[in-house]
Amino acid sequence: MITKLLVANRGEIACRVMTTAARLGIRTVAVYSDADAGAMHVAIADEAVRIGPAPVGESYLRVDAILKAAQATGADAIHPGYGFLSENPEFVEAIDAAGLIFVGPPASAIRAMGLKDAAKATMEQAGVPVVPGYHGTDQSVDGLAEAAQKVGYPVLIKARAGGGGKGMRLVEHADDFPEALAAAQREGQASFGDAGVLVEKFIAAPRHIEIQIMADAHGNVVHLFERDCSLQRRHQKVIEEAPAPNMPAEVRAAMGAAAVEAAQAIGYVGAGTVEFIVDGSGPLRPDGFWFMEMNTRLQVEHPVTEAITGLDLVELQLRVANGAPLPCAQADLSIDGHAFEARLYAEDVEAGFLPATGRLAHLRFPRGATFARGPVRIDAGVRAGDEITPHYDPMIAKIIVHGADRATALRQLASALGDTEIAGTTTNVGFLKRLSDHKGFASGKVDTGLIVRDIDALTVRGPEQDRQALDIAALTELGLPEPAAAPAPWGMGSGWRIWGTAAHPVALLQNGTRHAIRVEILGKTSFRVDGTALSVERQGDGLRVSRNGTVQRVGVHSDKVAITVFDDGCVTRFERVDPLVRADTGTSGGDDVRAPMPGLVTSVSVAAGDTVDRDASLLVLEAMKMEHRLCAPRAGVVAEVLVTEGAQVENGAVLVRLEGLADD
Ligand code: ADP
Ligand code: ADP
Ligand code: MG
Repeated sequence: MITKLLVANRGEIACRVMTTAARLGIRTVAVYSDADAGAMHVAIADEAVRIGPAPVGESYLRVDAILKAAQATGADAIHPGYGFLSENPEFVEAIDAAGLIFVGPPASAIRAMGLKDAAKATMEQAGVPVVPGYHGTDQSVDGLAEAAQKVGYPVLIKARAGGGGKGMRLVEHADDFPEALAAAQREGQASFGDAGVLVEKFIAAPRHIEIQIMADAHGNVVHLFERDCSLQRRHQKVIEEAPAPNMPAEVRAAMGAAAVEAAQAIGYVGAGTVEFIVDGSGPLRPDGFWFMEMNTRLQVEHPVTEAITGLDLVELQLRVANGAPLPCAQADLSIDGHAFEARLYAEDVEAGFLPATGRLAHLRFPRGATFARGPVRIDAGVRAGDEITPHYDPMIAKIIVHGADRATALRQLASALGDTEIAGTTTNVGFLKRLSDHKGFASGKVDTGLIVRDIDALTVRGPEQDRQALDIAALTELGLPEPAAAPAPWGMGSGWRIWGTAAHPVALLQNGTRHAIRVEILGKTSFRVDGTALSVERQGDGLRVSRNGTVQRVGVHSDKVAITVFDDGCVTRFERVDPLVRADTGTSGGDDVRAPMPGLVTSVSVAAGDTVDRDASLLVLEAMKMEHRLCAPRAGVVAEVLVTEGAQVENGAVLVRLEGLADD
């Protein structure tokens, strides 16, 4: 019987697991790295143990330190969350050997699904349809290229040990095969210590549909229906939903049965997900889905399944880990309504989804339940003031909505995203909001290429929102509208009044562009900004803005340096202009190539003295879960290379210096 649970993870999943454990009367133990000493998962646990410095290899991936923490605190079970050690069979064996309970499948089942090539072979034998391709032992360039030719282009090269969308390359033409292969092998080696790859047919108009399964130690396996995770960027999920749009009952039954078979074939116990790639070029068919991989753990997107089934998957995991039988049979399960989950990340979408970091100076989520079912559910592992560091995944929170039908749930999602405010780091909230308003998505026409195809529309901002943000920022800069009784902010003093005077000039900087704005104060709540009248009142923690007869809530966060305006998911940041500081510091105009984020230099392809063309590849930087190729901003000569392979670099560090041959 589990009485004290150690959660070998951090962030939202650690908090989510502990919340259910606490509800069941189970004591909780957190583990943390030095970077997380003040983190939320440490704060909500009953006890917490430091396991090492910030890098994951020295903390969250240390089996010995985690077992020691369990023993020191008398924990009788370990929940791995997702990521980190969750799919590591040696971790499970070490836990077994220590006489503790692992909340997850047996090591043998993890091993059977650990490598994509071996997993596909096992599934083929079990009669589960797999994606056509090559998953044999010949790893030579020629052998694999020949296999790709046989499979037929386009093909996907996958690192067999890959995960999280890493180590994957789409190849459209045979000419590109060798370079793509090298990249997939390099990523596989660097991230998973395994350069082995497989080659798969790239399915046209692909949809990613996965089946949640749950198995007990008594041979019972049920499936909890499907999740559609087709909205992806760089093979990573962005918005997930359950059930899948336009899913015929017979296809659901066929996919569910295949997933149960897959679990039974490997003696699975616990929660798991069988991922299928589905032909989305027409209506879904019972013969149009193929096994991709099985994730032998709780999945990031499990809350949408909880929403439509009413089950708590962590509770089921704990129950099964205690040796109890599943409380329900397949016939007891049904789908209630529709759910979506959006993953809120610290990332710069416009810059190609570059991970971002920063302190969350302001954090306001829509009203909702936390780690529990509800029309709106927020699963977050951070609080205002917490920092998104370069050490870990940059996910900030998951916003989950549940409605009676798909259209209702999608409206709830758009509205919840519109009410989300985050300052202190760049986030994808505006992008998610536009995705939730996307017409094709709304009509259920989803495939994994949707985001790439429509990226321009998904990143464009409306001119009205730009104008509105500027107006509100200008008023904020003047301390307007004045708080009812409280003293005016920013040291203006409570007696300060600017009523009646003519126009007040305001200067603000936006991405280096200087705006000059004129504000006229017509009354306590009425203003004219650059000639347009608007009325702005304080309301709750935001502003109520009326313009041309429409009334709307707008959020603002300001500090000494910047003013951030939140308008229905659209975030605009302005820097305050310090008149004592000259704005123009004379930048070096493209001579320096800097790290766009902290990361590891994995390869350098130029040396001092090389002549490079514009856009020539200079080096590859690996950060978070991706490789980023840094290219020459212009033609020139490499004056200096300041880093070598293997170097860990800070955000903004100069990596390569160019000289001469400037573009004209
Ligand atoms: P899939 O493996 O099919 O992409 P998920 O989207 O559930 O399934 O998770 C992808 C992987 O990315 C996880 O195994 C985990 O390692 C990592 N990951 C994703 N999101 C996070 C996060 N917020 N924190 C830590 N790791 C994450
Ligand atoms: P990971 O372990 O990184 O999650 P997966 O094998 O699950 O790797 O693939 C990740 C994503 O890549 C899928 O969700 C899908 O969008 C895309 N993908 C994978 N295999 C194929 C395929 N054969 N054809 C088309 N898209 C694919
Ligand atoms: Mg996957």
